[in-house]
Amino acid sequence: MSSAVHPGIDTVVKLLHERLPVAAIVTEPTEVAAQCHLWNARVNGLPAVLVRCRGVADVQAVVRAVGAVGVPVSVLGGGHDWTGSAIVDGGVLIDLRGMRQVRIEGRVACVAGGATVSDVLDAARPYGGAAAVGTVGSVGFAGLTLGGGYGTLIGVVGLGVDNLLSAEVVLADGRVVTADSYHEPELFWALRGGGANFGIVTELRTRLHPLAVVTTGMIAFPMDQARSVLRGWRDLVASASDSLDVMFGAMTTPAGKVVFTSPTWSGDPVLGVEQMDAVRALGEPMIDDVGDHALADAVHSLDELFPYGGNYQLSSRTLPGLTDAAIDSFIAAAEAMPATCCLNVHHSHGAATRVPATETAYPYRDEHLVVEIIGAWPDGDGAIESAWVHDTEKQLGTHAVPGGWANLMAPGDHRVQDAYGINTERLVQLKAQYDPEGVFTAIPLPTTSD
Ligand SMILES: Cc1cc2nc3c(=O)[nH]c(=O)nc-3n(C[C@H](O)[C@H](O)[C@H](O)COP(=O)(O)OP(=O)(O)OC[C@H]3O[C@@H](n4cnc5c(N)ncnc54)[C@H](O)[C@@H]3O)c2cc1C
Repeated sequence: MSSAVHPGIDTVVKLLHERLPVAAIVTEPTEVAAQCHLWNARVNGLPAVLVRCRGVADVQAVVRAVGAVGVPVSVLGGGHDWTGSAIVDGGVLIDLRGMRQVRIEGRVACVAGGATVSDVLDAARPYGGAAAVGTVGSVGFAGLTLGGGYGTLIGVVGLGVDNLLSAEVVLADGRVVTADSYHEPELFWALRGGGANFGIVTELRTRLHPLAVVTTGMIAFPMDQARSVLRGWRDLVASASDSLDVMFGAMTTPAGKVVFTSPTWSGDPVLGVEQMDAVRALGEPMIDDVGDHALADAVHSLDELFPYGGNYQLSSRTLPGLTDAAIDSFIAAAEAMPATCCLNVHHSHGAATRVPATETAYPYRDEHLVVEIIGAWPDGDGAIESAWVHDTEKQLGTHAVPGGWANLMAPGDHRVQDAYGINTERLVQLKAQYDPEGVFTAIPLPTTSD
């Protein structure tokens, strides 16, 4: 339940009723609560008002109404931010889930601010196209892209931010601007990695790439082969084509705990078998389910791996490489891992590493690994799982860069001060310029470069 409804709410509701249809404005607490169902069920807080927006004009109306009174506001897209930054307790929630349209214009997808990864891929599929997306279909496309955007096409097309062509943004003062390389270029720079901290993005235009199928799936090995599999992974990716992405991790399957690889080959389909054979040769696979799939189907198939409405605690560490010592820590963490938890590693390579660090706000352009530490529990207090997340981040932290990927950081995480490296000062200045009152709160931002 809401702890404190903002005193200006009545005025905001009055202003909203002057500008929007009644059905768009939800104030009844049980209905608001029912609509605020997020990926992470542990998120607390209840907005006083939820506004179902249908387009940019609605978003603009809400921003102007809350701005007139100083009521806090938040934005709900795909609802996957594990910290729950989409929910503002006692304030106004701008619900973008009714804005999921995707328009295909040649090699460009025009994506409404509330669309999911699956919405984008499903729209692109009939044209034989694919976008730079993540690994799970139900994640919000805007939240993912603005926070960096790691995915399995990273080696050939780069990060999500590298594929963003423009964004339509409602700013804190209610103005609507288009940010691209020619218009509001500084805002465009900040959006590409600085997250949803600069305004409400009502449409993104992203590049599409001709890609009808990928060869992908899971090849998993028994835990006792983990050391040789991970050392072999290191050798394999050192000479692999950019078109081969091999994520890896550890999880518990019905057959026991495994070190898994999740290879994706996005090159010539004829060569897919040979590429997968190289991954199989890392050990003696106990699970092997690779095949040719549309990327849309591949990401959709992972939605249930991390179901909506579970209890989660996430963290991550960014490693400059997979040293023998890092492998030891990874294996120790995997061995201690509770059965419902998981380790999942993105590998940034190829195209993503050929972009200069100052080109976008997202600064990590050397080859690196992002280890996602996923604590999950269907019920109970999660004490064991949370303790494992903390122990693991500590262990892996000894091999990590000082900052890391802000998109998985919780508010108050001290690492955010280092998360933007060389881009920190520029990002901090742009936040002050575009959102001087701090109206928008998304992933954490540094406050200063000191
Ligand atoms: C299961 C799972 C898998 C994931 N896989 C990947 C992956 O493969 N690659 C990757 O890079 N990341 C991945 N992530 C991280 C994900 O990108 C972030 O959690 C992201 O913030 C989720 O966006 P969302 O819209 O779903 O969430 P929300 O909680 O709705 O939004 C996240 C933040 O962005 C704001 N926001 C959302 N949409 C807009 C908008 N249009 N305008 C302004 N603000 C907005 C919200 O207010 C909130 O602060 C994953 C997360 C989960 C939980």
